[in-house]
Amino acid sequence: PETARPCRLTVLGATGSVGKSTLDLVGRAPERFEVMALTAQSNAPALAALARQHRAKLAVIGDEKCLGQLRDELAGTGIRTSAGSGALVEAALMPADCVMAAIVGAAGLRPTFAAASRGRRVALANKECLVSAGHVFTAEVKRSGAELLPVDSEHSAAFQALTGAEPGSIEKIVLTASGGPFRTWAREALENATPEQALKHPNWSMGAKITIDSATLMNKGLELIEAFHLFPVAADALDCVVHPQSIVHCLVSYVDGSVLAQMAAPDMRTPIAVALAWPGRMVAPTERLDLARLGSLTFEAPDETRFPALRVARSALRRGDTAPAVLNAANEIGVQAFLNRRIKFLEIARLVEETLDVAERQGAICPAQCLDDILLIDELARRLAEDALNRY
Ligand code: NAD
Ligand code: MG
Repeated sequence: PETARPCRLTVLGATGSVGKSTLDLVGRAPERFEVMALTAQSNAPALAALARQHRAKLAVIGDEKCLGQLRDELAGTGIRTSAGSGALVEAALMPADCVMAAIVGAAGLRPTFAAASRGRRVALANKECLVSAGHVFTAEVKRSGAELLPVDSEHSAAFQALTGAEPGSIEKIVLTASGGPFRTWAREALENATPEQALKHPNWSMGAKITIDSATLMNKGLELIEAFHLFPVAADALDCVVHPQSIVHCLVSYVDGSVLAQMAAPDMRTPIAVALAWPGRMVAPTERLDLARLGSLTFEAPDETRFPALRVARSALRRGDTAPAVLNAANEIGVQAFLNRRIKFLEIARLVEETLDVAERQGAICPAQCLDDILLIDELARRLAEDALNRY
């Protein structure tokens, strides 16, 4: 209702693809939101511009070397500034009704945990948080009474299709995958795929890391693990199907044979709007679906021979304990190494699989009790992956 007080919103990772889409929605409904803290890693001019535009209370830059520039840009505005990893956590802890967690990678773990610890709504885009620290993160959410709303489009779709579901009535959750830019490529061609080719996603415009993950299908593997922690289903009730048009985002099958799916144009502003306004709805200015014009929606089985990352991620999900944390850390190293042309495209999944094997032999795949356990394993896995890289 118009009379409701505005939602106090903090955006972690404000300068990224999800962060900018979030603030685009906020800019179109300024009466609905009061922007609290905005953070970024190193792009001080972009962060300052967003902070000014949305009259944020606090702007935090991760890289301390960029604080001077941020201060200069925001001089005279009354917007507070700070820098460093501790300041990112403080931004997450600042009073707010909703925190959009849109930092990429394991770097988002501490700030996202901090947001969850305050028992508020966490709109979760940072999938690495659930992949690495699923059990401890969901335990923290439960302890604090936080409300976790998925922003990842497939999980937002599942969340919507699961409204009112009784436990035990869900048979299967199937996430769709676009198949990425290499869906139809032969394995030999994949050997020599370049970062430029992998960065050209057919349907979605996203940050570099998740775009590479979409090309290897590791993204879908990470999403299966994410879904396992978000929804009350067993690992073997989770599956994925390739759907090149990215219109259907998820299918939930019930025991009576009903399948509920969510459809929307591939634009993150829809799932972001769902998380910001839930259980209400807010306007998102996305392209409307015209099914007659689209004509057909197609589906095919994913090919784990050409896209081994999916198989590796599934096996980490089955293995449990810290295996997904190792998977995530090794994948972050692999993606960066591929972008820096240190390894080839298919070596990303190989590196992840090798790192998981070494970690298992070293006893590093074990139960984790707290975030610090996860961060130690994350660090170890990065070292193991770097060691393996040097042999490629
Ligand atoms: P991005 O690279 O576009 O933006 C990342 C943001 O995090 C930026 O604001 C950056 O400044 C900040 N950041 C990067 N490294 C940091 C660090 N070390 N410390 C603090 N901040 C840091 O990424 P994105 O595509 O917006 O993705 C963000 C998250 O959302 C990822 O976890 C991704 O998997 C997930 N996600 C994204 C999309 C999408 O459409 N982009 C869809 C689903 C899920
Ligand atoms: Mg997704």
